[in-house]
Amino acid sequence: MKIKDRCEESARNIPLNMPEAKYPENFIRFLGTAGTRFMMLSQRRSTGGIWFSYGASRGVIDPGPGSLVRICEAVPCLSPIGINALILTHRHIDHSSDVNVLAEGMTLNSAEKRGDVLMTEDCSEPGDSVLLGFAEKKIKRVHRHEDGKKTELPGGVTVESVQHRHHGVQCFGLVFRKEGLPTWGLVSDTSALPDFPSRYGDCEILVMNVTMLLPRARLDHLSLPDAASLLGVIHPKLALVTHMGGMLLDFGPGNIEKLLSSDRTKTVAASDGLVVDLERPLAKIKACKLPGGRRALSNGISASRRSGI
Ligand SMILES: [Zn+2]
Ligand SMILES: [Zn+2]
Repeated sequence: MKIKDRCEESARNIPLNMPEAKYPENFIRFLGTAGTRFMMLSQRRSTGGIWFSYGASRGVIDPGPGSLVRICEAVPCLSPIGINALILTHRHIDHSSDVNVLAEGMTLNSAEKRGDVLMTEDCSEPGDSVLLGFAEKKIKRVHRHEDGKKTELPGGVTVESVQHRHHGVQCFGLVFRKEGLPTWGLVSDTSALPDFPSRYGDCEILVMNVTMLLPRARLDHLSLPDAASLLGVIHPKLALVTHMGGMLLDFGPGNIEKLLSSDRTKTVAASDGLVVDLERPLAKIKACKLPGGRRALSNGISASRRSGI
């Protein structure tokens, strides 16, 4: 099959010759699960953000280093040419480095401007813009985060921005809603803030950037006790831990899951390539092969992890 045809098929989200390994209709896929710049530079875990297909919205949140590669190597097939939304929670390089190449995919061959980008005001600082000018010119709508603002994405999807506190840059979490589909959210890089229980209280599925094993003064990242406190109040059906630092990974995904799970919440420490069916968050889905013999898909159940983790 020609590359163009392959991409067009992918854009319609039809798995290629893999009827047994189809994506769910509404899902997220972890393109990477690494947190901290040391993890990014070593690629002990991949970076690359989160792919989402939710209603008619399809895109990537926080496309860090390798996002495009992780998309192109995904099985079943994904393609940046099929996306219609790009979201940056903040401008740090591990969350934004691939935004321009994905914007290129989103707008390629389009005679008209295409797609939605949601990012912070400080992603566009004069002379230091994260989204390059030539790419921004091709985007149909560029939205800016404001606390509590509900940005409309294609197909009746809204995404609410939740103010975070993170090392002096503007940073926002996300809550996705669409009538008839489960509400899900992302707590991005941040200190634990007192309004999180009310802001994320209606999320059935909550993704959390939990970077540290224990809280550390002056580091604006969630730790394991911070995540436990939040889950102890809001009890989502499924909690997914990502953006993990080295000490947390050394502590072990199994121990993270044990500590953060309860009768009301199943917690999964996400693995690279993990796919979660947003409509059946507690169901297992079949594992698929990834290039290089890796296996990734499964609804949170220990798909093989990279050696050394
Ligand atoms: Zn950050
Ligand atoms: Zn980060």
